[in-house]
Amino acid sequence: DLVLVSGASGYIATQTVKDLLDAGFPVRGTVRSADKGDYLKNLFKDSAVPFDYVIVKDIAEAGAFDEAVKGVVGVAHTASPFHLKADDPDELIKPAVNGTVGILDSIKKNNPNVKRVVITSSVAAILDDDIPKPHTYEEDHWNAYSVREVKEKGRDATPGDKYRASKTLAEQAFWKWIEDNKPSWDGAAIHPSLVRATFLRSLRPRLGSVRAGPGLVNWFTGNHQESELKAIKEAPFNWVDVRDVSLGHLRALTTPEASGQRFITSNGPLSPIDYVLSFAKHYPDRKTYPNGDAEASRRKEINGAANFYNGAKATKVLGVQYHEIDGSIKDTIDSVIKRLGI
Ligand code: NDP
Repeated sequence: DLVLVSGASGYIATQTVKDLLDAGFPVRGTVRSADKGDYLKNLFKDSAVPFDYVIVKDIAEAGAFDEAVKGVVGVAHTASPFHLKADDPDELIKPAVNGTVGILDSIKKNNPNVKRVVITSSVAAILDDDIPKPHTYEEDHWNAYSVREVKEKGRDATPGDKYRASKTLAEQAFWKWIEDNKPSWDGAAIHPSLVRATFLRSLRPRLGSVRAGPGLVNWFTGNHQESELKAIKEAPFNWVDVRDVSLGHLRALTTPEASGQRFITSNGPLSPIDYVLSFAKHYPDRKTYPNGDAEASRRKEINGAANFYNGAKATKVLGVQYHEIDGSIKDTIDSVIKRLGI
């Protein structure tokens, strides 16, 4: 029952590896370096079933996964660049698309026994800025807007559109590959919104700021900048607990009905106000962003201005019961305190 998880050192992947191991699936992870692999081996050393890793330095290279796929029955492909720093959109698009197509080519070449391949897509592949906010999105939608923006503007497209185009094009390449090659395995795609909650690993210094959310650490410590004050009164986004995303991957690997399906995993809008309310409730002795300033009464209005990604299908088909906001925020903060020592 060996499962391959690509990009095992990633935030979502680490949780996914843990949950697969806890469910009794031995896991092989791909990582970019031995130190990351050894870190994970140590993290999972008490697991009842084995975790091992292989090094895949660059998912964009042809044949990168040729060895990694041997002997596995399931594949969770999560590796993809996730940052907003790319100048040339191909910095994101190439690894996203080539990594997806490459892992499928390697399976075709080296492993006829794979049963299921699940890729980590994103609501970024669903959101469509041609549609005015607030809009409710279901799994049938595709992000044509970001792909067009990147095609027309290239390097001048926004960082968000470059990332969203990479996710859209990678997922489109996935379904097209399946259509063209008609493999014996079947595919599924998971579409998280912004992922929050427990961090199992601390491999990177950017963990605190990027993965914990805009301004989160600064709001928590009361060291927020002027620009972050504005964000706290607006900036709603959709969120999901990392454990729900991980369970979505696990169930998409094992549920027959998941075949050929896309699954939004998202628990609705969240704004910084939600953070501030939870800070005050769970950490009353900390000097956090002042509760009153967050205008708690405006929470409903602010979150109501956000798009809504309907995650109900993942509940119905995959049995994902979403964590609620307040507990998830507390777990996020507890993790950040532990990892960053703040
Ligand atoms: P991380 O950055 O933590 O994980 C990304 C993983 O991909 C890392 O293991 C990284 O390796 C690996 N990777 C990236 N580029 C390459 C490359 N060229 N060659 C080899 N490995 C590479 O991000 P997340 O866990 O948050 O994201 C995982 C997936 O989930 C991505 O596909 C992302 O698009 C998607 N997603 C994330 C959301 C979120 O809110 N976090 C929301 C929706 C979708 P290394 O650790 O060495 O950098």
